[in-house]
Amino acid sequence: MSERPEPINCEHCGRDRSTDTDVDALAWASDTDATGTHWLCPQCARDHVRDIEGKLPREYW
Ligand SMILES: [Zn+2]
Repeated sequence: MSERPEPINCEHCGRDRSTDTDVDALAWASDTDATGTHWLCPQCARDHVRDIEGKLPREYW
């Protein structure tokens, strides 16, 4: 793996994923829609877990 991953920032608070530990980086939540991929850091994902669950398609339950 010689290529560096694309920079990822939390859409909500702007946290830089590359500064997280490996364990924290794995806890990030991504959501892909027509406009692209949106990332939430673990903290914001927890804060918005209800919103995220509310948007999940039914087959995901
Ligand atoms: Zn965040």
